[in-house]
Amino acid sequence: MWPDEARCAAAFTFDFDAESVWIADDPENAKRPGVLSQGTYGAKVAVPLILDLLERHDVRATFFVVGQVAEQYPDRVEAIVRAGHELAVHGYTHTSPAKLSRAEEEHELIRARSILEGFGAGVTGYRSPSWDFSPHTVDLLEEHSFRYSSNFMDDIRPYRHEGRSLVELPVQWILDDAAHWWFGSADWTKKISTTAEVRAIWEEELLGIRELRGSCILTMHPQVVGRPSRLAFLDAFLGFVTGLERTWIATCDEIAGRVP
Ligand SMILES: [Zn+2]
Repeated sequence: MWPDEARCAAAFTFDFDAESVWIADDPENAKRPGVLSQGTYGAKVAVPLILDLLERHDVRATFFVVGQVAEQYPDRVEAIVRAGHELAVHGYTHTSPAKLSRAEEEHELIRARSILEGFGAGVTGYRSPSWDFSPHTVDLLEEHSFRYSSNFMDDIRPYRHEGRSLVELPVQWILDDAAHWWFGSADWTKKISTTAEVRAIWEEELLGIRELRGSCILTMHPQVVGRPSRLAFLDAFLGFVTGLERTWIATCDEIAGRVP
């Protein structure tokens, strides 16, 4: 499935949520600048530092960007595109499609894609806020000619949705920084993992996927992985993955393009 006899594919993906994820979590948060500042950090501090790291390792990534976030932080999105990374849709607001009517969901999808296309990028992929789908999501993606979705957890290899041209690039919580590091005031009992723990989990999972000739789709959030200790971790992890022989590092769109 992979080019140059590679044993696996690996994609570094970033969900650029900024403040939108906190507002989706609780609309009351829109009036709480302290809570929102956690998201602001992603746009203000983390994205430029992540772009520096990716450039240093010569890795192109996929950024799933919320439409409202692209409107609020156009400079950041321009920088992402200028550096050669892929843009993909992550909702217009950060609202789960399961909470929207079919018409609202379609409106969000089209609006978000057209905003991202305004940055001169080809936009072919979709990741829903929270990986949640409505009963209409697959139909809408197919109708609007999206090439791939990166939301489901039912495989370790990309596949085509049955009877559709839509490709699925499967994800999993184990490869999501939020599962290990997300922290909000509702999570006081949750321990924040160390970078050593996440490094062990991600390295083992990647090597396991490689044994099985699959695709390793890593999901990160600038506001989460963009803390200084975690950036140092990401630097080392990028070095590990780029140094792994017969491992094809690609954008999600490129990986989707390999599915027969
Ligand atoms: Zn998100």
